[in-house]
Amino acid sequence: VAAVSAPPLDALRADLADIAVADDPGTLRQKSRDFFWFSPILKPQLEDKRAELVAMPRTRDEVIRVAAACARHRVPVTARGGGTGNYGQAVPLEGGVVLDMSGLDRLVAVAPGAARFEAGARLLDIDRALRDRPDVPGRWELRFHPSTRKQATIGGFIAGGAAGCGSCTWGQISDAGAVLALEVVTVEETPRVIELAGDDVRKVLHAYGVNGIITEVDVPLAPWQPWAERVVAFPTLADAARFGYALGASEGIAKKEIGIFDGRIAPFLKRLAPMVPAGNAFAIVMVAEPQGPALADLASTHGGTVAYVRGWQEAEAAAFEGAGDMPPLYEYCWNHTTLHALRIEPDITYLQVRFPAGNEVALVEALEAELGDELLLHLEVQRRFGRVFVSGLPLLRFRSAERMAEIVARIEAGGGAVSNPHSYVLDDAGWKRTDAPQAAFKAMADPHGLMNPGKLKAATAA
Ligand SMILES: Cc1cc2nc3c(=O)[nH]c(=O)nc-3n(C[C@H](O)[C@H](O)[C@H](O)COP(=O)(O)OP(=O)(O)OC[C@H]3O[C@@H](n4cnc5c(N)ncnc54)[C@H](O)[C@@H]3O)c2cc1C
Repeated sequence: VAAVSAPPLDALRADLADIAVADDPGTLRQKSRDFFWFSPILKPQLEDKRAELVAMPRTRDEVIRVAAACARHRVPVTARGGGTGNYGQAVPLEGGVVLDMSGLDRLVAVAPGAARFEAGARLLDIDRALRDRPDVPGRWELRFHPSTRKQATIGGFIAGGAAGCGSCTWGQISDAGAVLALEVVTVEETPRVIELAGDDVRKVLHAYGVNGIITEVDVPLAPWQPWAERVVAFPTLADAARFGYALGASEGIAKKEIGIFDGRIAPFLKRLAPMVPAGNAFAIVMVAEPQGPALADLASTHGGTVAYVRGWQEAEAAAFEGAGDMPPLYEYCWNHTTLHALRIEPDITYLQVRFPAGNEVALVEALEAELGDELLLHLEVQRRFGRVFVSGLPLLRFRSAERMAEIVARIEAGGGAVSNPHSYVLDDAGWKRTDAPQAAFKAMADPHGLMNPGKLKAATAA
């Protein structure tokens, strides 16, 4: 790992004179980390990586000045949003500058069905801002968001995230139409500002910021619904999984979240645990308020009983104002499940699984029977490509890398696919492929190879 010598950094600082920067050890540590520590493999690899300077621009012009200075002095630069990534995406492997984008947080424009934001806007703040726009006909919201809605930024989600709450209706970030346009700044002596629209957004989508600093994004919106919350208990995990699939396939029921959980996960979700009868599997669901009864009927046909009900006003107040005793239930879903489990049992980690179409429940049952307490299944139901798509973030009681590989092989033998969450290398990120437009765009946008170095294999970066 090449250390950056002091003189270029001093010269770079001089160029940034009136832009907010920090280099105290506490800030450098905090802004050099994300949630890579979910992985026992990544933790030792990334723990000691540090930026040498954190730059905190507030405008596109300031971003351009940081990019120009980094190019001129050949200093690595790693963009950062909320720093909630799970794979060390935002960790500056070669030091240099961390570019904290959270100061660019404005709503640029909103119209019915679409809005444009600066990249550092946090997802919860975006939905708050959309709620408070009586001048725009109708009420709108982001189609989907990760469970880190409170901390994550829209730029970070597009550059490093995948799916989340809302994906059971709207698919995920890599799907056609999920991002309308992006503005990126290149890292050159004279940076360019490039607008990518339509299919061209794929050039920088989920590229970990290796080939452009995203400064603005244009996303489609969904018509808002009064999202109520339910916990539904089931005698078996297979019953819960069948219900999750059936709800995913029920176009008539408007829903925003379908999480399915092994009953042994309940004790990790402390405030939720008392709602789930002992030994029951359960589902966490967000449903449009008027459709609560239809949801209960569907649940009962799969042996389920509604165990907890929160109306939309209370659910929204929990999300927007932190009101009530219980966090928004999506903060028990997606990778928040792993976070809650890790707080209680530090040896737990997770996998990212796609269940085989048509054989989802068969694989669920087989894994449950064979792996006992070692793998606790947590499924997330999505809708993609015109069908229900069952993915999962099962909790894994980690024994060794070798044992984890055996479990991955078992899942694959059953027709599942596993995306490796234990690598910071973009090329290794499972079913994500670094296709040609990204490498070609990098050659143009980052000619000195300074952007988030080390995240692409040399062959891909070349
Ligand atoms: C508890 C927990 C739950 C999670 N749940 C989900 C989930 O439901 N779904 C999901 O998809 N993910 C999830 N994640 C992962 C993560 O929260 C999301 O992917 C989130 O959207 C990342 O946004 P961020 O602003 O924190 O990005 P960061 O972590 O700051 O950055 C992510 C990547 O994007 C790059 N980047 C950031 N901003 C820019 C920019 N402006 N221009 C160019 N590159 C940039 C960074 O360099 C980095 O490579 C979860 C993580 C945790 C810890």
